[in-house]
Parts: sequence; C-alpha cells; structure tokens
Amino acid sequence: YLDVSAVTKHFGETCVARKVGFSLGRGELGALLGPSGCGKTTLLRMIAGFEEPDDGAVYLGGRPLWDEGKGLAAEDRKIGMVFQDYALFPHLTVRENIAFGMQGTGRAERRETIGELLEVTGLAGAENRYPHELSGGQQQRVALARAIAPKPRCLLMDEPFSNLDVTLRESLSAEVREILKRFGITALMVTHNQHEAFAMADRIGVMMGGTILQWDTPEGLYHAPKDLDVARFIGEGS
Ligand code: ATP
Repeated sequence: YLDVSAVTKHFGETCVARKVGFSLGRGELGALLGPSGCGKTTLLRMIAGFEEPDDGAVYLGGRPLWDEGKGLAAEDRKIGMVFQDYALFPHLTVRENIAFGMQGTGRAERRETIGELLEVTGLAGAENRYPHELSGGQQQRVALARAIAPKPRCLLMDEPFSNLDVTLRESLSAEVREILKRFGITALMVTHNQHEAFAMADRIGVMMGGTILQWDTPEGLYHAPKDLDVARFIGEGS
C-alpha cells in the first residue's frame, strides 16, 4: 500500500538516501531504526511530500506522490504527520486542535473519534485547555491524537513518544498500535527505541548511511539478521 521504490536523495555531496525501497501493506505499521544522521527523517519528509527525491518514486495506494517534479496535492495525499516539534495551534484548545483536520467527518463520528482519542492519549479532562497549559508530554499526545483523528491513509511519526516517561511510553504505544489497526491506518515511524520498534511494528527497517540494510519482520530481523552490521546494531540496542 505504501511503496517506496529506489528513492535516492542528496544534500550537496552527501547522499542521505541511496536506492531505498520497501513496502507496507494496508494497515501495517513499519518502524525505521538507525543511528543519528542516517537519513530517517529525510525519508519521512520525502514520503510526506516536503522533500522531492532526486530519483525513485513513492506510491500510496498505487498512486505516485511525486509526478514530474510536482507533489500530489495535500488533500489527495491524506497523509498525517507527527513531527518532533508538535506545532500545535496555540489559540485552539486540545479538543479544537484534535478536531482541526476533521472537517469532512460527520458530527457523530467526529464526537466519537475525539472521545476515543482523548481516552487513549490520557487527555480526557484536559480537552478545554490550551497548549501552553500542557506539559511537553501532553502536547506530544495532542499532536498524536490530532494526526490520527482524520483517519489518514498513511501516518508518519518521527519519535512520537520521545517526551514521555517509560511507563506512559509503553502503555500509549500499545494503545496507539491498537487504534491504528482498528482504523486501518498504514503507518511508518522513526524511533531510536528498539524495544518499541520490536513491540509495535509489523516490519522494521534498519537504516545506515542512507541505505536500508534490512527490511523485515521483527522475528526475521532478530533471528536472521542479514549481515554483521545488522546483527551488531540489533545486539547493541537490545
Ligand atoms: P536523527 O535520528 O538524528 O534525527 P536522521 O537519521 O533522521 O537523524 P536526517 O535528519 O534524515 O537523519 O539527516 C540525514 C543527513 O542529512 C544528516 O547528515 C543531515 O545533516 C543532512 N540533512 C538533513 N536535512 C538537510 C538539509 N535540508 N540540507 C542539508 N543537509 C541536510
């Protein structure tokens, strides 16, 4: 459903993506692991349509996201994003922030979905507060709820749980996984946390120096690492 095909990207002399390719089926969750600076965020940004690849293509539901130098219009892409700087709307309450992208959704469904997301993210009771009245972790959870609420075709998440303590991180990641499955949302996340990737993802990509060394199921990666680099990387992080 999400197909990344031989995507290549340079910044000046630096190659941040070298013929990167992988696929996710509809409703699957993928995780990208790799050392800092290996190109994970840039890859998400290309799938999001913020950066154009030098070469290769990204397809969502069979349609290319870039065509002859032009990105597919935002309303056609239906891609949700949670980036590290949550960028909430400061003048809107928690509820209004979450409802922001849901114009196309009927009143009853909107109510139900928002209620459900407030519960899942532990924000019930805080729905009328403004972003500056929330902790960093709460803001991150609002950003997550806001991205899931319109039920995008594809959800991209860059370190979505980074500002949460361990207990909340584990419970929230499990619940987010569950809700993505229930809504049938295909998702790709970048994380530094191997434990999280192995617990949540259907497929994991290990990325180094702009290449995906292995794209596999958690079991495949764990039991049959393709080479020494992958084995070492997985070994270090567990
Ligand atoms: P981290 O885990 O630290 O966020 P990352 O794997 O997400 O790292 P990227 O942010 O994709 O890595 O960056 C990959 C490389 O590309 C880095 O060396 C970075 O300095 C460089 N880079 C990223 N964006 C640009 C840009 N707009 N112009 C020039 N170089 C860039």
